[in-house]
Order: sequence, then C-alpha cells, then structure tokens
Amino acid sequence: MTDTAEVIVVGLGAAGAAALYQLARRGVRAVGLDRFSPPHDRGSSHGETRITRHAVGEGEVYAPLAIRSHEIWRELEAATGARLLETCGLLTLAPADGSATAHGVSDFLGRAASVARTFDIPHERLSLYEVRARWPQFVLAGDEAALFEPGAGFLRPERCISTQLAEAQRLGAGVVLEAPVFSIEEAGEAVRVVSPAGTFEADRVVVAAGAWSPELIGGPFRRLTLQPQSLHWFECEDPAAFSPSRFPAFMWIRGGEPEDSFYGFPLVGAPDRGVKMACESQDSIARIADFDRTPPATAGAKVFERHIRGRIRGIGPRVLSSAMCVYSTTPDSGFAVGWTSDRVLAASACSGHGFKHSAALGELLAKVVSGSARRIPPEFALQRLA
Ligand SMILES: Cc1cc2nc3c(=O)[nH]c(=O)nc-3n(C[C@H](O)[C@H](O)[C@H](O)COP(=O)(O)OP(=O)(O)OC[C@H]3O[C@@H](n4cnc5c(N)ncnc54)[C@H](O)[C@@H]3O)c2cc1C
Repeated sequence: MTDTAEVIVVGLGAAGAAALYQLARRGVRAVGLDRFSPPHDRGSSHGETRITRHAVGEGEVYAPLAIRSHEIWRELEAATGARLLETCGLLTLAPADGSATAHGVSDFLGRAASVARTFDIPHERLSLYEVRARWPQFVLAGDEAALFEPGAGFLRPERCISTQLAEAQRLGAGVVLEAPVFSIEEAGEAVRVVSPAGTFEADRVVVAAGAWSPELIGGPFRRLTLQPQSLHWFECEDPAAFSPSRFPAFMWIRGGEPEDSFYGFPLVGAPDRGVKMACESQDSIARIADFDRTPPATAGAKVFERHIRGRIRGIGPRVLSSAMCVYSTTPDSGFAVGWTSDRVLAASACSGHGFKHSAALGELLAKVVSGSARRIPPEFALQRLA
C-alpha cells in the first residue's frame, strides 16, 4: 500500500524537523520519515547546547537566517511554553592581529564585527580590561581582541527538534519514525520514497539526511567530509560563577587551524552536570556507519590540557561526561542546498555552524519546495561542490 502526501521530508533532525513544521504551518500535506526517533544521539544535533549568534563571521548570507531563526524559536516558545533559546550573550576572543581562522573564514572576529555593523546587530568591541572585569573566569594572554554580542547565546537542540516535530504533528503532518529510507525515485508525476515502514509518494521531497546524505543522495553530497567531534562536561569549583547570568557562551579562536580553537557554554541544568566545553577535530571517517559513539578515553583530558588549563579559571580537569557528535563539512564550510532532480530538494547545513540557522532554513526549504519562493542563496549552490 502506498501513502501519499504533497511533500515528504526525509530526515527529521535539525533541518528536516524545521522543514516539516514549516510545511505544516503552511497547510501543506506533509509526511516526515526518520531512520531513528529524533531527537537522537546518532547524528549532528545532540549534546544539550548549540551556540547561536547573529553576527556570523561565516558570511553575510547567514545573518538573515540567524535573525529569522531567533524569531521562529521565540514564536515556538510562545506557542508551546518550551524554553529553546537562552540569550546569555556570546563572547568571541581571537588574536587581535586577525590571524586566526574559524569555519574556513580568516579574521573571523573582524568579519563577525563587520556583519554586526551591516545588519545593525547590537555588539560591543571590548577592551581586555573590560573582559577581565566582567568575566574574571577568562585568563587572557593579552594579545586577544574581544567581541561581545548580548543577544546571542545558546539553543537546546534536542528540545528545538522535539518541539517542532510535535507542532508539525499538531498541525496535521505525519511523522514516521524508525523508518530508514533506502530509495527515493521519480515515478512519473510523483516521487516514490521506500522504507521498511512502507512506500510513500509525493509531488516533491525534501531530503535533510545530515551525515547520511553522501550515501542517500550521492552526487555533490559525496563531497561532504564526516568529522566525529567529542564534547565534554567539566567539573567547576563554583557553579554559581558559571550560571548563564554570570558566564557567557564563548568561542576562543587561538590560531589558524580548527584544532586551535575551543568553545564553551555556561552551566546548563544541575550543578553536578558540569560545564560543557569542546574543540573541533579534523579527523574524518569514510562513512557514517564508521561513526563510533564512544568517546576516546583521553579526549576530555586532551581538551583540558590544550585549551582550558590556564585559560578558564574555575574549571577543573575532571571530566564528568563526554559524548560524540558528527560534523558533515563541505570543502568551503558553507551550506549545500539545491534541487538534485526536478522534484527532490536536498540540504546539508552542518560544517559545525548549522543549528542556529536551522529554523529559518526549514522555512526556506518549505517555501521553495512548495513553490512559494524560488531563490536559494547562490552561496549554497550544489554546483560549487561538483
Ligand atoms: C559537536 C557539534 C557541535 C556543533 N555546534 C554548533 C553550534 O554551536 N552552533 C551551531 O549553529 N551549529 C553547531 N553544530 C552544527 C549543527 O548541530 C548541525 O549543523 C545540525 O545539527 C545539522 O542538522 P541536520 O539536520 O543536517 O542533521 P541531523 O540533525 O543529524 O539530521 C539528519 C537526520 O536524518 C536522518 N536520516 C538519515 N538518513 C536517513 C534515511 N535514509 N532515512 C530516514 N532518515 C534518515 C537521521 O536519523 C537524522 O535524524 C554543531 C555540530 C556538532 C556535531
């Protein structure tokens, strides 16, 4: 038996849950399928927190997505009572000479400040004296520049996904879980999506399969590099000093290589949960089936020794817990969004900075797939991956 819909969404992580919710909001008859039961801890969207900021050093094309996403998160909060977005502010530290790179962008802090000016985003260029006075937890070397965005902060990714899926269902969308799609084929005037949970047909399909995209969609998505990342929760001496009212989310970019930077959050949840901090790894795996969700035994200690010791006052070396998550990264660290055939629209929005944009990206996907918008930013074009 074949189920029909106007649009099928394959993959209900950050981008797919947002797309399904936005389709349902527009009254489009939509069904979403996922191979697991999102939110889950097997892809790119778990680990309690994601940094969100409007002054996005990754480029001006991302700022409208980040700004619109905050509006959507706030709308969802108002509609459901869920707390999704915490605006504890974001402090970015980087060498004052502009030599450091993040997410493939040189002089990341300078570019973020430029985006803030262009889009009129409240921000402060702080002296090191001001940073030390506000947040004595940061032990600065003295060669840093500092940018503070008070309206930035963090999102709760699992809750963002579950809230959008619940809202999508409330508005009439179908959600089919534990349904790994193994084929997406055009069949005359429709697209046929086959999974063990059944065969589904629709006018169009959105594929938001994250780290599974290379194998499910292939083509340009084979250019994605899958990079496992470890996350760690460290013991803190004085939990109050790391509460969101006294400690911001931060990115500390210390050099030209991704491994030279680290980032962290205020304490979220119970005091004995620990404070989450991590750095980015360039190690890669050939396919998502090779993703080992067991954190290497020494990974947290390495992050502490390389980054935290001597830089964050009040965080101890004891690792309370760790987790693994995976980046899917394009060669230029940008998003990949486009039509892979007349009826299949695919998106990969990771490269370590996609969550903050996911609500608005879902809205863009919903508009484009249902025909109410056509324009996909050329910066996201699939052709550049060819
Ligand atoms: C450690 C880490 C830290 C990050 N930090 C930040 C941050 O601070 N700020 C920020 O903005 N971004 C951050 N990101 C990036 C952000 O989390 C990702 O961009 C985003 O979560 C990617 O979402 P996605 O929808 O593409 O993938 P996912 O959320 O992984 O969703 C893909 C979904 O597709 C499903 N699926 C796959 N194949 C199939 C199939 N065949 N059939 C059915 N379903 C299928 C999967 O089960 C999964 O649910 C970080 C990422 C990681 C890994």
